[in-house]
Order: sequence, then C-alpha cells, then structure tokens
Amino acid sequence: MARMHRVGPLLPPVHIAIEPTNACNARCPVCETGKGEMTRRKGMLDLTNFQRFIDRSARWTNSLFFYFMGEPFLNKNAYEMIRYARAKGIWVDTCTNGDFVDAKGVIYSDINRISFQLGGMTEKTHQRYRVGTSLEKAHANLLELIEERRKHPGSNVRIDVGLIVMRHNEHEVASFLKWAKEIGADTANIIDPCARNMTEAYAYLPRDRKYWFYDEDAFERGELRPKVVPQNECIWIWNSMQINWNGDAVPCCRDPNGHHILGNVFEDGVLRVFNGKPARNFRHSILERQGAVDICRLCSGYGMPELVRDLPASFSVVRHQIDSASAPSPQDSADKG
Ligand code: SF4
Repeated sequence: MARMHRVGPLLPPVHIAIEPTNACNARCPVCETGKGEMTRRKGMLDLTNFQRFIDRSARWTNSLFFYFMGEPFLNKNAYEMIRYARAKGIWVDTCTNGDFVDAKGVIYSDINRISFQLGGMTEKTHQRYRVGTSLEKAHANLLELIEERRKHPGSNVRIDVGLIVMRHNEHEVASFLKWAKEIGADTANIIDPCARNMTEAYAYLPRDRKYWFYDEDAFERGELRPKVVPQNECIWIWNSMQINWNGDAVPCCRDPNGHHILGNVFEDGVLRVFNGKPARNFRHSILERQGAVDICRLCSGYGMPELVRDLPASFSVVRHQIDSASAPSPQDSADKG
C-alpha cells in the first residue's frame, strides 16, 4: 500500500510499541522525560487495559516493543505484562537503564530480548548522561540476570548491553566491547547518539563522526539534520504503531509529546485507529508534504524491525516476590517526572 501511495484501508500493524510508563528515575539530558520537557501527563500503563489490548491484537502482532519515554521497570506490573504477551505468542523486546531490573522477574517474564543501555564504563562517564542513576546498580542487576539465566538454560531471554556513545565516553568503546564479552552478554551494541538541537549536538555528539547519523556539512553550517532526509516516504507507519501508556496512539517514536494523536486504542481498538481519519490524514501528509511534518525533521531513518519467528514461551519459572523496597514507587516517579 505504501508503494502504491495508498493510505488505507490497511491490515493491522504487525509491530507495536507500547509505553509501560513515561516516568523515569533518570534525568538524561537528551530526552523529553529526562530534561523535564514531557508535556503529557505522567502515568503507568494499566495491567487490565494491557491484557485486553493484547487479547484483541495478539492474532496479528508479531513483535511488541515494551518501552517508549520512561523506564519500563518502574511499572510494577511489567513482568506480568511481558509474560502475558509472550503467552499469546508475541515476540517481546525492551530496553532499560538497568537500575530497577529484577533478574528473577525478567526470567519469569520470558522476554525475548532485554537491552541494558549504559552511559559509560565508570560512574563518572555513565552519570554524565544517565543523570541520577547508578552504574553499580545496573551492573549488579545485569550480572544477576546473567547468572539467573544460566540457571534456566531453557529460557528464551537474550541479554544485550548497549553503550550510548557520546563525546564523554567515546574513548571507552573498546573497553565496553571487551567487558561485554567477558561478562557473557549475548550481544553488545554501540548506540548512535541523538540530539534534538545544535546545543545538544555540540555538547554530546562524539568527536568521531563515524557514530553520527547527522549530516556533517549541514552541521558545519549550524544545522542539525539527518544524513538521509526522508522524501515523502516512511517505512514505519504502514505496518507499525506507537502507543502511549494511556492508550493514545501516535505515528512513531519521534512523537514523545503526542503532537499527532491518531486515536485511543483502549477505547476504539487498533484496527479502527490504524485506519481512522487522523491516521490516514497523517499518511497522506507523509506522501504529499513530509517536509512540513515536524516529527520527521530529525528522523533517524533506522530500518524496520524484521518479522521475527516466535519462540514458544518457556514458562517453567513461577512467580516470586519482587523486592521493590529499593525502587521509588511508580506514583512517586510519576509525580516527580
Ligand atoms: S519521524 Fe516521520 S519518517 Fe520517521 S518514522 Fe516517524 S513518521 Fe516515519
């Protein structure tokens, strides 16, 4: 349909991203939540809403990205939600700053992939970006998860570690990769950094420009724009959907503050929202005048996730009591932002 320049009607989206919460314990300076520029109300995805949503959409959902604008594991029901989606045959992925990950909870959830995304190899470099977090805690939780997975060889959980490469940590890339191998992570990723404006770009983009997806010539002229600027095309919005914690759908992850609400999937269902007037109008704007669509201006243009073969859930692990004493209550986090 995208190739034919048709905006609908479409089959339901096969990739769904859903927001467990838009609250976070970290104050990352290149994130709307972290820098206090989140204009949406703070809140937590509700377990019943999530289960109803999965019941209605599991048939056609291939993969579920369980994260968006906050720390997923501040939602006390995160592990139950992931397990619920896995039991319905959906491939589930998440990323975390690592501070509140409960290793046994992750194994119980049978999530397919969890990515610990770090800001550096020392407390100092880590906290330069992951402001307000603790590398020591993230490391301890990661190592505990690796050990817990070792005890459950049938587990589907794959453990990824990522380094968000920035000016203050680019000298740590080699030691990060070495460390990732030594601890037994399944994969290690060097994550290209984002910036929302030139001030952030000057402060955080690495000196080594091989890590940039921004146009270097434009940068020299004082303009921040991607190397590849989309020209009336997008490969995401014909087969995927981004859902906020309250059920509001937006076109993609470039809309953290909900400037382009397409409808509410908890009230109207995915298919009706995906083929509703706002979604069709948005696709039409992409095809006809994408240059005027604010959120596309800094699109990273990453490729689509592939369709993944679901692995049957491995549910031999029973529920255990999660020690949440050391975590801030979800409500505290939501209130403080
Ligand atoms: S920012 Fe624009 S081009 Fe990029 S994924 Fe979103 S809608 Fe598509």
